[in-house]
Order: sequence, then C-alpha cells, then structure tokens
Amino acid sequence: MSIKLIILKSKNKQSALKEVEGISAINSVGLTAVSNFKKNRQKKVDIEVIFQNLQQGQIASLSQAITLIESTQSNHNQLANDIIQKCLPHANQSIRIGITGIPGVGKSTFIEAFGKYLTNHGKKVAVLAVDPTSTLSKGSILGDKTRMEELVKDPHAFIRPSPSGQTLGGVARKTRETIILCEAAGYDTILIETVGVGQSETAVHGMVDFFLLLKIAGAGDELQGIKRGIMEMADLIVINKADGENINQAKLAKAEFNRALHLFPIKNSEWTPKVQTCSALNGLGIEEIWETICEYIKMTKKNNYFDINRKEQNYQWMIDTINEQLLSNFFEHPQIKNQLPLIIDDVKKGIKSPFVAANYLLNLFK
Ligand code: GDP
Repeated sequence: MSIKLIILKSKNKQSALKEVEGISAINSVGLTAVSNFKKNRQKKVDIEVIFQNLQQGQIASLSQAITLIESTQSNHNQLANDIIQKCLPHANQSIRIGITGIPGVGKSTFIEAFGKYLTNHGKKVAVLAVDPTSTLSKGSILGDKTRMEELVKDPHAFIRPSPSGQTLGGVARKTRETIILCEAAGYDTILIETVGVGQSETAVHGMVDFFLLLKIAGAGDELQGIKRGIMEMADLIVINKADGENINQAKLAKAEFNRALHLFPIKNSEWTPKVQTCSALNGLGIEEIWETICEYIKMTKKNNYFDINRKEQNYQWMIDTINEQLLSNFFEHPQIKNQLPLIIDDVKKGIKSPFVAANYLLNLFK
C-alpha cells in the first residue's frame, strides 16, 4: 500500500523504470524495501522449490537442504529452519536405528548388507553418521563412500557422511534435523552409524527407536572399548564375523552376552535385549536381525513406548538446542570474547577463583 503511494507521488524516470519492471520504489528506503522484498520472495520460492523436490524424493534437493542445515553461515540458519518446519508434518513415519561398535567390528560391511536387504524388501534407506571426531581427523566414518560400494549405487538408499561440527552437540543436532528431512523425502528406515568409543553413542541413542551394538567374539571388553553403559543401551547385541573358524567362538560369545544381559535392570520399553550372531560379509543372520527389530517395533508400538520415547526425545532435543544456543551466544558475545582471555589468565594465576570468574562473566553476559 505505502509503496503504491510513493509511485503515484513521484513519476520520475527511476520510478517509471521500476514500474516497467513491475517493481515499485523511488528512494533509497523504498529501494531497500523492494530489494528485501525481492530477496524474501526469492528465498520463499527457493525454499518452496527445494521442499517440493525433496518431498518427491529428489536426492539433489535433499542434499541441498542438508547442506543448508550443516552450514555455519548465519543467513542459512533461517532458511534451514524454514525447510525443517515445512518437513516436520511429513516426518516421523520411519524406523530409526542406531548402529554402534568399535572401528573394525564391521559396521560399514554390516550396513551395506543390511541396507541392501532392506532395499530389496521395498524399503527406502537413509544412512547417516555421528562422528564428532571427523572435524579433527578428516577421516570420518562414512566419509569414504567406497566403504559401502553397493549401497551407494542403490537408488533406494541415501548415504550422508557425518556433518563436521566442532562439538558433539552440534553434530548431533544437525543429524537430528537431517533425520526429519530424510523422512520427509520418503526414507522409511534411517540407519545412524556411530563409533563405539565415546559419548557419541549416548547422543545417537537419544535420537533412535532401536539401538544395535555390534561386537566381535574373542576380543575382551576392554579391547572393544565397551563400557557397561553402552551395553545397557543396546536393544540388540550382534556378534559379527560369525563365519569360518569364528563360528564357535561367536556362539560362545553369544551365550556369554546373554548371561551378562540378565544382570541389567528391566528397560522402560519392557523389551528384553537379545543377542544374535551374523556374518555381514556373507549376509548370514541379517534377516533374523530385521525380524528382531520388527518384533521390537511391534511390541513398543503396542505398549506405547515407541510414542512416549519419541516425545521424550523431542523434549530433550529442545533442551539440547537451548543449551547449545545459550553457550554459543555466550562465547560469541563481544564483551565475553574480550574479557575471557584476561579472566582465564587470572584463574590460572590464582588471582580469581573459578566461581568468582564464572559469575563475573555470567553477569557481564546478562
Ligand atoms: P568398521 O570399521 O566397523 O566399519 O568395519 P568394516 O566394515 O570396515 O570391517 C572391518 C574389516 O572386517 C574388513 O576387512 C571387513 O571385510 C571385515 N569384516 C566385516 N564384516 C565381516 C564378517 O562378517 N566376517 C568377516 N570374516 N569379516 C568381516
């Protein structure tokens, strides 16, 4: 309305030109408004197009949307949020499976075999990864797509390496958002790989319906880096490489893990974790693993745990986002940036106690 008025008032060459172009503005304020309007309109169109294509399962658009999510450019933030918002009503209709195990246990071989099994049975599979070390080592799990040679060529599979974030929190958030996009793009089975050596399992456990721990027979628990906590999170322990001379050892390990699992408290899901053997290399045991997962999903949907767990995870997702945002705002605050090195120095020299220093900085931030 106001733009139209301006045009009527000043019929100079500039405004006439803009009118010809279908753009109405005459002064610098007006031009800025128009430019913003154009940008916004452009933005809306682009996001809409990306979303439409993504929903039709176009991989290029899905990748483009994920790239926006993973971007650290502040102007991409809003675009990423817009896309997630659009995708949300179309998400949630999948089974999310976390897969963990120490390097060498056979994760990628397993995901390749399992993923192929699923796509052969009409599933659309997205494979994501949470590897907070990828930024440092540049050798992220899934970074090298040749690890899943067959699956990568499968038109019903989508493989995305771990986002390279600086913190596990950041990587986890981006992966959660990526799950939403993949689901909106029609992927009904989401596999999330993580390395079984640190906190990343807890993060992945917090974003999946089913948690699968891969192990190999014969290696001690210390060697496998498996802490009690990770065992406790598992809904299924799979002893991989149960082939050749390894078969007997795998059977023994299965019995041993079954005994160990009895010592753990009953899960909120009421599910009794299972132990199975498989040979990812030969594709043996894969079908039985899928059957177990289906059994779990059926049971937890019936007793409502499936739903309750997802709601709880959404709540946790919100809290994590607040924590992460606050932390990032704190450290990005100009005064904090300025004062922090001096205060750290004081704390190290014992001039200020860590608590006094923290309170000083927090008050500055407030
Ligand atoms: P990741 O590091 O956990 O992803 O492990 P990989 O999938 O890269 O496998 C590590 C090694 O174990 C590779 O040489 C695989 O060929 C081998 N491997 C994986 N699964 C099996 C299996 O079921 N049986 C045997 N014998 N070897 C396997």
